[in-house]
Amino acid sequence: MANELTCDVLVVGGGPGGYPAAIRAGQLGLDTILVEADRLGGTCLIRGCIPSKAVIHAASEFERTQQIADGPAHMGIGLDSKPTLEMSGLTLWKNGIVDRLSGGVQGLLKAAGAKHIQGWARFKNAKTCVVQTDDDEVIIRPKNVILATGSVETELSILPFDGTHILSSRHVLDLENLPKSIGIVGAGYIGLELGIALSKLGSKVTFIEAADSILANYDSELTRPVSQYLKKHDIDVLLNTKAKQATRTGDAITLAIQSADGAEQTLSFEKLLVAVGRSPCTTGWGLETMGIDMDGAFVRIDDQCRTSMSGVYAIGDITGEPMLAHKATAQGEVAAEIISGKKRRFQPNAIPAVCFTDPEIVSVGPSPDQAGKAGEETVVGRFPFAASGRALAMDAGQDRGFVRITARKSDHVILGIQAVGSHVSELSGEFALALEMGAVLEDVAGTIHAHPTLTEAFAESALAALGHPIHIAAS
Ligand code: FAD
Repeated sequence: MANELTCDVLVVGGGPGGYPAAIRAGQLGLDTILVEADRLGGTCLIRGCIPSKAVIHAASEFERTQQIADGPAHMGIGLDSKPTLEMSGLTLWKNGIVDRLSGGVQGLLKAAGAKHIQGWARFKNAKTCVVQTDDDEVIIRPKNVILATGSVETELSILPFDGTHILSSRHVLDLENLPKSIGIVGAGYIGLELGIALSKLGSKVTFIEAADSILANYDSELTRPVSQYLKKHDIDVLLNTKAKQATRTGDAITLAIQSADGAEQTLSFEKLLVAVGRSPCTTGWGLETMGIDMDGAFVRIDDQCRTSMSGVYAIGDITGEPMLAHKATAQGEVAAEIISGKKRRFQPNAIPAVCFTDPEIVSVGPSPDQAGKAGEETVVGRFPFAASGRALAMDAGQDRGFVRITARKSDHVILGIQAVGSHVSELSGEFALALEMGAVLEDVAGTIHAHPTLTEAFAESALAALGHPIHIAAS
């Protein structure tokens, strides 16, 4: 006979949305069960954010060592022999980080008093969930449900994933051997992050992108340094080009492509990565039985993460863009606190987005163009990292990076902040804080930023918007 359980909160999905929701619910004294079919941590921790950043870091270390070995001597450092790369060793190191973090989530859930069940959850209706575990069936009758089932790689019918030649991002993160060549369909942030890393490790990388630019969500001023990196490092980018069909020829894969003018050609690669976006995980677990309204492909929620069904909340990637881990986490905490009776809303002023490309890109709030189109009269300040002592001292100021700040002209309230350059991901927190606190240019300019740090470039960009930067000539 099936085991029957009741609880205050059932969380389905143990990714960066679900597990923080379960931890917070547990901390608040709610009787909480989290069901996860796979390992704890979700896409982000097991096959997304964390493993990709580990691979990106390792690739940069390898590239840097190789540059030193190839000479000419730089910073007075030389190497007598070239570094070697064992892809299986890199993957093993990456797996160690993932294992450690996934185990950590297990411990945190336990410490918060939340119960974890490993198995596939399937709803019979909004108040009854059946979980198939390895050796049992558990029926859960929760008072409240938090849906956090996340997203999966979008698959193209013409290029179905086979795990050996046509790969998804998760396959690329588990490579045991480095492909000599790889075609990447899609030049969004996931494709670019992985493609640049593979190129640093030694693969010949070619992007095939249907749009007329890489990173189509960002403006050209921001993406230019990345485009320049790609060009300088012999990474081919075919824009306005569609992948049409792939065929296996021996150990290679031949891809037919078509450019905007209708011209067709074929390219041959050892592997193909298809990185054309992610689709919400909304099928196979009984969502259709729950009477929940949809918003296109996503679950519709209000500003309290409530779905149209009473007592059922949804968070993270299944609720739509931006499909980012930190948004999922913030929603998870809000949903748990609302269930506990606290008055909360999910109404952020800004959600930062980071591309861990080379150089990195950070964007919080609208660009100058977007602010203008929204009817704002603005002032814009820019500060180049080439004028930052810290950037130069880290050998990082030569990538044409900068910080850009956009503020309302009338009252100097900051509307948007973007940066491109090495290590700028670490500035994203201060940018988001400025927007969340409703800072004006004078707040940022008047905050004493430690010297020498990259954060000084943020203060200087605010000074530039005010017309009196110190370390560049006022324009
Ligand atoms: P997920 O993390 O997808 O977790 C959902 C979980 O639910 C999964 O573990 C799944 O097994 C489980 N599940 C689904 N259905 C059921 C069911 N019926 N029963 C039981 N369990 C179920 N975001 C960033 O913010 N920064 C980054 O740098 C970044 N890099 C990325 C790199 C890559 C290569 C990829 C693929 C993604 C990246 N993302 C990044 C996106 C980020 O991973 C997602 O936005 C985030 O994981 C979404 O969290 P979530 O909790 O909504 O869902």
